[in-house]
Amino acid sequence: MNEISRRAGPSLTAPDLVMLDHLVTSLVETRRGIAAFQALEAQLLHAANTLAQERVDASRSDGDLPMRDVAAEIGAALRVSDRTVQRQLGQASILAERFPRTLDALTTGRISRAHVHVIVDAGHRITDDEVRARFETAVLTVAEQESPSRLKGYARLTAERLLPRTLQERHQDATAGRRVDVSDLDDAMSQLTLVAASTLIHGIHDRLTHQARTVTTTDPDDPRTLDHLRADLLCDLALSGTPTAHEPAQLLGTITAEIHVTVPALTLASTSSHPTTRDGVLDAAQLDPAMLDGVQPVDTATALQLVGASPGWDRALTHPITGAVLAVDRYRPSADLRRYLRAIDQRCRFPGCMMPTRRCDLDHIHDAARGGPTNADNLTDKCRRHHVLKHHTTWTTRKQPDGTITWTSPTGRHYPDRTPPHVAFTTDTDPPPF
Ligand SMILES: [Zn+2]
Repeated sequence: MNEISRRAGPSLTAPDLVMLDHLVTSLVETRRGIAAFQALEAQLLHAANTLAQERVDASRSDGDLPMRDVAAEIGAALRVSDRTVQRQLGQASILAERFPRTLDALTTGRISRAHVHVIVDAGHRITDDEVRARFETAVLTVAEQESPSRLKGYARLTAERLLPRTLQERHQDATAGRRVDVSDLDDAMSQLTLVAASTLIHGIHDRLTHQARTVTTTDPDDPRTLDHLRADLLCDLALSGTPTAHEPAQLLGTITAEIHVTVPALTLASTSSHPTTRDGVLDAAQLDPAMLDGVQPVDTATALQLVGASPGWDRALTHPITGAVLAVDRYRPSADLRRYLRAIDQRCRFPGCMMPTRRCDLDHIHDAARGGPTNADNLTDKCRRHHVLKHHTTWTTRKQPDGTITWTSPTGRHYPDRTPPHVAFTTDTDPPPF
C-alpha cells in the first residue's frame, strides 16, 4: 500500500508568507492595471478606425486609402506592420461596438485580454445585437471565475446554442475563408496550410495515401515512410501538375515557381566541409546560411544545388563579412538592376512590411516623369499596397547614402527603413578581397 510520507519537507517561513502575500496582491493589482490599459488601447484604436472609416469611399476601388493611411501612420509609430495594425483596428471596433459589456469588464480588470479573445472568437458569429448581449452576460459570469482555456468550451457551446443558422448555412459562409498559408519553421523547413472543405481535405489525404502505397508496392526498397511519400507526392503535384478544372489550363500548367535565395560568397565557395579563407580553416558551422526571401535560412546543400541549377533561380552573392551584395547572376542591364535591388532590399521598403521583393514593384523615389533617374540609387522595392500609399496619399520617401529609406507621414513624423541587417563575423584583419 502506498503511503504519503508525513515527514515535513522544506517549507516557506512566516516572513516568506508575508512577502508572498504582498507579491500576490501587487500582481493582481498590476494585472488589473494592464487590463485597464489594454481596454484603453482598444478604445484608442477604435477611435482611429472610426476616424478613417468616416473618410472611406466604398464606391471607389481605392476607397479604403484613408484606412491604409491611418494604419501606416500607427504601424510606423509603433514599429509593427501596418497590415497588423489594420487588423487590430478592425478587431478593436468589433470589441467596442459589438461586445461593450466585455470591453467594460476588461476596463475594470474583471477579465483579461485572453478572456476577451475567447469571448469575441466564440461570439462574433452572432449577428443579432440582443442575442449577442445575452451571450455576453452568460459567458462573462464564467469568465470572471475561470481561466481563458476553461472558458473556451463553454463560450463555444453557448454561442452554438444561440446561433439561429443551420450548419449548411454556416458552412457556406465558412468556405469564403478557404486559403493556403505558409509559415516558416526551424532548420530550413516551412509549413504549408490548406484550409478547405473537410471532404476535399480528407479526399486529398486519401488519394496521396493510395499513391504512396502504390510507390512502396512498386519499389519495396524505397526507404521513405508513408508520411514522407505523401509529402513528396504533394510537392511534386503542386510544383509540376497541370490543373484540369481551371482555365486557361494549358497556360496555368506552364507557370513555374519562382523563389529568391541569397547565397553568401563564402558559403558558395565551401564545396567541402573544410572551407578555407586566406586566414586559414573556417568552421563550416560559422558560415552564414543562404537565405530565402531574406527571412528563411536554407541549408547549404540545397543552396549549392540551386546555384548550379536551372535558370529559374535568382543568384545573389554576398560579401562574407559585410553582407553587401557582390554580384547578381546573368547580366542583362534592366533585369540585372532589378535583381541587384531585390538582393539588397529583400522585402518591401515600408517600415515593418515583409512582402518579398519578387512580389514588389520597383518604384522611382524621384519620379521618372520629373527627371528621376532609373538607377540603383533612385529605385526601391515597394509592395503594391505601399506603392499605392506613396503615390496616392501624402506619404513621401527619401533615400540616404547608406541605403536607409526615410518615410515622412501625413502628420510629419519620420520613419526610417534600414536595409536588412546582416550577421557579420568580427575580424581583426581586412575583409577578404572579393
Ligand atoms: Zn509593403
